[in-house]
Amino acid sequence: MSYPLYVFKFRDGEPVPMKEAVIREVLGPVTVGGMPGRGLPEGWNLRAPDGGEAEVYGDATSLSFVHFSFGLILDKVAELARRTGAVVMPLDRPALLQREHDRRHLPDDDLRARAIVVPPSAWTGRAIQQVVRPVPEPRQRPLLPRFPYHSLAGVVAPTDEPCVCCGQERGWVYTGPVYGAEAPDEGICPYCIAFGKAAERYGATFNDLIDGEVPGEAAREILERTPGIPAWQSPRWLTHCGDGAEFLKPAGAGELAHFPDAVETLRRECTGWGWLPERVEEYLGALDADGPPTAYLFRCRVCDTRLAYSDFT
Ligand SMILES: [Zn+2]
Ligand SMILES: [Zn+2]
Repeated sequence: MSYPLYVFKFRDGEPVPMKEAVIREVLGPVTVGGMPGRGLPEGWNLRAPDGGEAEVYGDATSLSFVHFSFGLILDKVAELARRTGAVVMPLDRPALLQREHDRRHLPDDDLRARAIVVPPSAWTGRAIQQVVRPVPEPRQRPLLPRFPYHSLAGVVAPTDEPCVCCGQERGWVYTGPVYGAEAPDEGICPYCIAFGKAAERYGATFNDLIDGEVPGEAAREILERTPGIPAWQSPRWLTHCGDGAEFLKPAGAGELAHFPDAVETLRRECTGWGWLPERVEEYLGALDADGPPTAYLFRCRVCDTRLAYSDFT
């Protein structure tokens, strides 16, 4: 780390000297070239057995460590502070105290307010590292919007980037197809699809072919406010009972085995291409959710029938 870490011992707001013998004893073994016969050098370099390094400046009343590594170097800093009764103060971070009692000796209110007491069992380089560079908590991502016609399978990914459309950090980005000359190919969040913002702003649609007749409002919902299908070829939206079906997921032969009605729609389609039964069955057996040929599984929102179509590259 390129900013300094200070080690001070305070009494009533004033720094007081740490025991020089202890400084020599703790830092001597990792001092490059060793300690001089007596006293402390003006400034010196440390190198620890794990390859970690630091530069040290100051004297027994105030030691600063700069360009320090995590690992054994910070363990040495922790040991030094523990044995001299000192406080570790990373720049712009809370000071680390060994006892609550040390808080009142700190020189100003802000330091006193922010200082953290680290119990003896945790008083190691790791505790210092936690304050210098906290390990980020796993991010809680917001709930995804619900789409009446799409399960979101295969078309969203976590991201920390803001959405190109709304500028918000939504935690999710849409990764499916986008249609429209003005529309960005990527970077739109699923909320901008759900709320129609991307459709309105860019004239974008996310689907462009509905396979069957549906009311105008359902068609607009599917084309403009529903994510697309993560397909290899131009996708098409299946319909049933006069409405758009709900897209469930890309599916392979194993999953489709649970949905004979869907397999039947696929079989009829292949037969319609003029394929002989043997070839049709071979093709159906080769369907794979992760690589072509792939089936796209839908569910009728009215009668719950499963439907599918398939494509290959
Ligand atoms: Zn957005
Ligand atoms: Zn139906």
